[in-house]
Amino acid sequence: ARDSALAEASGPGATKDGHAVPLLANVGGPKDLDAALANGAEGVGLYRTEFLFLDRSVPPSDEEQEDAYRKVLEAFPEGRVVVRTLDAGADKPLAFLPPPGEEPNPALGERGLRMARRHPGVLTAQLAALARASAGLSVKLQVMAPMVADAAEAAFFAGACREAGIEHPGVMIEVPAAALRARDLAPEVEFFSVGTNDLTQYACAADRQVGGLAHLQDPWQPAVLDLVAPAASAGVPCGVCGEAAADPALACVLVGLGVTSLSMSAPSLPLVRAALARHTLEECRRAAEAARAARSAAGAREAARSHLPGLA
Ligand code: PEP
Ligand code: MG
Repeated sequence: ARDSALAEASGPGATKDGHAVPLLANVGGPKDLDAALANGAEGVGLYRTEFLFLDRSVPPSDEEQEDAYRKVLEAFPEGRVVVRTLDAGADKPLAFLPPPGEEPNPALGERGLRMARRHPGVLTAQLAALARASAGLSVKLQVMAPMVADAAEAAFFAGACREAGIEHPGVMIEVPAAALRARDLAPEVEFFSVGTNDLTQYACAADRQVGGLAHLQDPWQPAVLDLVAPAASAGVPCGVCGEAAADPALACVLVGLGVTSLSMSAPSLPLVRAALARHTLEECRRAAEAARAARSAAGAREAARSHLPGLA
């Protein structure tokens, strides 16, 4: 099945009836670009910049940041690159940015944009390095903040981006409050990207680092689909960059919910491209409706698949 999917699936992502769904790669830095290009990524949908900051007691220099960012930006002259600003804290602890005090629940503590607001110099240095790295390049640079909870946080981040000369600010939708009130955040930014890993963690109150809770960390949970729906219909382009996008059936469901692009680890791109190419947008919509009508994750998966005849 994989070989025929690989043969069938090349070129830009689209449904059977030609509805374009850009397929993008999640990368952790320049080292991941070969795989992204080899699997036909149309750009980067999530550049996790934490890797540049891991295992060090001081942040990387401005030049080091600029160099790493430029390498990724240069790989997609015709495409787009979505960079996520530093997501420090919780499952991504960084030595030079420890939480300000004892945190009994780090996933609910200072992480992501919350940490950036406590250390504004880290954010402004990163945004400035991104602006310099993109100067003179044709790629569309989009920059998004992790762990945004409400419209005020989205407005703060968009303001910081524009001050740094970054024209396309967005936010991740990974907190249920932001998903439920996506309509309030939409006027502040140019795009959303749903982080289904964290959105599932927070929707089901199941720490993603606790292995025994795997059954609750399932993005097929109908509650998670119910949270993606308002984000995908809030009036700004809405991608998905969590693991959910790499599941071919769930990718079709997400498109049926109104999601406009999908980003995943590069090896997953061919099977997702093939799954989309075998189904119409209408089939994706019916699969999404059926999944949301189910009462369990397993039920949602089964209901969706019954509307997606092209899946093996
Ligand atoms: C997510 O939360 O779904 C996501 C894409 O980001 P990360 O896994 O890096 O938190
Ligand atoms: Mg996340």
